[in-house]
Amino acid sequence: MALNIPKNKTPIAEQKPEERSHNFKEVVLGYTLEEAITEANRCLQCPTHPCVSGCPVNIDIPGFILALRNNDLSESIKILKSYNNLPAVCGRVCPQESQCEGKCTVGLMKEHEPVAIGKLERFVADWAASHEGVEEPPKKVEVNKGKVAVIGAGPSGLTVAADLAKKGYKVTIFEALHAPGGVLMYGIPEFRLPKTIVEREVKAIEELGVDVETDVVVGKTITIEEIREEYDAIYIGTGAGTPRFMNIPGTNLNGVYSASEFLTRINLMHAYEFPKYDTPIRIGKRVVVVGAGNVAMDASRSALRLGAEKSMIVYRRSEKEMPARIEEYHHALEEGIEFHWLTNPVEYIGDENGNVKAVKCIKMQLGEPDASGRRRPVPIEGSEFVIEADMVIEAIGQTANKVLLSTFPELKLNKRGYIEADPETGATSVEGVYAGGDIVTGAATVILAMGAGKKSAKAIDEYITSKKKA
Ligand code: FAD
Ligand code: SF4
Ligand code: SF4
Repeated sequence: MALNIPKNKTPIAEQKPEERSHNFKEVVLGYTLEEAITEANRCLQCPTHPCVSGCPVNIDIPGFILALRNNDLSESIKILKSYNNLPAVCGRVCPQESQCEGKCTVGLMKEHEPVAIGKLERFVADWAASHEGVEEPPKKVEVNKGKVAVIGAGPSGLTVAADLAKKGYKVTIFEALHAPGGVLMYGIPEFRLPKTIVEREVKAIEELGVDVETDVVVGKTITIEEIREEYDAIYIGTGAGTPRFMNIPGTNLNGVYSASEFLTRINLMHAYEFPKYDTPIRIGKRVVVVGAGNVAMDASRSALRLGAEKSMIVYRRSEKEMPARIEEYHHALEEGIEFHWLTNPVEYIGDENGNVKAVKCIKMQLGEPDASGRRRPVPIEGSEFVIEADMVIEAIGQTANKVLLSTFPELKLNKRGYIEADPETGATSVEGVYAGGDIVTGAATVILAMGAGKKSAKAIDEYITSKKKA
């Protein structure tokens, strides 16, 4: 079938690579209203709308796009917010190519790019926030259905809290850090997701009546028993914030960081604004980042912005297996990040003062598929070589955050150390305790964590309602 629409997405304004690689300002500048409507006109309004099933929270995508096309931004944001409490965040960071846009009919046509659903979602959310009166204030609901505690203010915890507040529950979120948002605040850098955007969407959730208590580490500042006594139900959304390490010789050398520490210093602690903020950060001239997921892209691009002359990524598999969002990979290439595929570090080499000065690597080849279905990387004997580097950042994955789990022995964990929870409801082995997001699935995506929060909000409502009736 020949389609009478432009093959490519409507171009979007971006900072030029040579400028943006020296600053932390947002890379993608967003659509104008005219551009957004032009892009909205590429949507075919398919009766079967396969894009919707590609979105883990099943947003009415044709609905919000049609309202935008009709220049009815109030209706468009109303539709979006009825499914998603963080649309400006998701429009920016969802891996759309494997979710909504991956299923878009237009994208499946020969030589056509899918509708830019994420960019349109972001546009509508930003427009509504910057134009008074576009978005209706939240409806007042009577708060009389019960009390729910949420542990962790990441996207999962924020979603369950917002949905339960809308249903009439008194919700309190306990967050260990000094700011809510989880990875959105401490992990994803400003140049991809400005913190003012996260703060804006968190504030809208607080305006629904959700209380956020920061600087409270459940399991240390207060115990799980204290919370269980006071609340009708609990949702655990503590994420997978503990870094994994390569555990190779030289890991303890100065200049070898985990991406978690490096990015937290930069984002949450504003190290890139030193000395305005009192958080020092090491600035390497030649930086090697290990891994090729979103975390690795963020770390390598942050190092470049902090002044690295060369920022390199080494990854043990090939470009095809790289798990990062495709847009971030393209941006990283444009900014001059150097990629060493099929390469794995085997040792960090130090100087006489204990500082890292080089990374010994080995070349890899792909063998048979492993448990993840991806071809297993196998070292090529005798192929070792050395990359000079004065800084190394390991971004090879995270694991469960254990502070709370270690104080809650009744809670059943799976073999990988994550909470065992029903995939449809989030119910755990302990009655009245639900869990979702990265602490259940392992490191995944923002929208999957939010989807889990949505399912649990429904299940918690049913649980408390039936308990109160009994
Ligand atoms: P988190 O966001 O980890 O939030 C958990 C919260 O719980 C944290 O704020 C933590 O401080 C708090 N907490 C932990 N223990 C306790 C305790 N005992 N008491 C109180 N509070 C506690 N996903 C995408 O979709 N797109 C991307 O582009 C993307 N980029 C990423 C980049 C980086 C650098 C990282 C690290 C991850 C990225 N991800 C991305 C993954 C995504 O951010 C996560 O899947 C998502 O944030 C998980 O949400 P969550 O709510 O489960 O947990
Ligand atoms: Fe797509 Fe994410 Fe928006 Fe869903 S929330 S429509 S997956 S960008
Ligand atoms: Fe529009 Fe694509 Fe969804 Fe069809 S699949 S309704 S074209 S966004």
